Amino acid sequence: MELIVSIRQMQYYAEQQRYAGRRIAVVPTMGYFHEGHLSLIRQARQLADVVITTLFVNPTQFLPGEDYERYPRDLERDRRLAEEAGSDVLFAPTVQEMYPAGYTTRVTVLGVSEKFEGVFRPGHFQGVATVVTKLFLATKPHVALFGQKDWQQTLVVRQLVRDLNFDVEIVVVPTVREADGLAMSSRNIYLLPEQRQKATVLYRALQRARELVLQGQRRRQVLVQAMAEELHSVPEIQLDYAAAADAFTLDEPEEFAGGQQIALLVAARLGQIRLIDNEVVQVPPTGAERA
Ligand code: AMP
Repeated sequence: MELIVSIRQMQYYAEQQRYAGRRIAVVPTMGYFHEGHLSLIRQARQLADVVITTLFVNPTQFLPGEDYERYPRDLERDRRLAEEAGSDVLFAPTVQEMYPAGYTTRVTVLGVSEKFEGVFRPGHFQGVATVVTKLFLATKPHVALFGQKDWQQTLVVRQLVRDLNFDVEIVVVPTVREADGLAMSSRNIYLLPEQRQKATVLYRALQRARELVLQGQRRRQVLVQAMAEELHSVPEIQLDYAAAADAFTLDEPEEFAGGQQIALLVAARLGQIRLIDNEVVQVPPTGAERA
């Protein structure tokens, strides 16, 4: 596997691959790989001739006071894991390379970026849209893979691709979980043992609401309350939000319709660690609705 750190070299490499008729997949990441990242890389391997994994802890998507400095980093380990999972290139630019002195451009996606994570992390999705734009222009992919773990992010990226006419197919890969349901995350290593055990409440809250939907519950408030109640059963949990919304528009109707895809979304803090998770579930249509 090749390690590339310069944008110019990355573009040159990508251009050569395209000229040779090869299909390029990109997997954007912030590193400190776990099975979630590796499943994206393995899936990319299935979809393209050339797999480029990007590793960049993007400062512009962290708010002041968030964990940018503390974010876990281990280039040597990531290099080995990415190679084992089938990546051809690890593109790992420095902050200076991505945002040199005098850099001023930002990419803003309105709409889907304004709720939920957008409220609790203002500016976060602008950082994401900006870096994804720059990574696409550096790696020239045909297809880009993102994890369902960050559901709202996948919507922001899809909107970005539509609006700016990026000729890139977006593929969303299911969330990889620990045996007890906790969604894998690079930040999980910072959970103390007792916090780690309590963190499973996010998954339980989502499962409870999911069951309600599958049993025919369509009232948004009932779903939200079920999740909030479960989350509040752990006193150490500080809830940012528990929400049920149309999975693609993020609209929040009083009542969902048969056949509609619902995103159940939760974000909570356990001590210093902020956790997010989601499930997407379809409202079972009644016989009449199917007809
Ligand atoms: P990150 O390094 O956390 O920015 O994540 C890089 C990519 O991996 C994003 O598209 C994430 O949505 C995805 N990802 C992170 N955690 C998981 C997971 N547990 N399962 C699937 N994908 C994930």
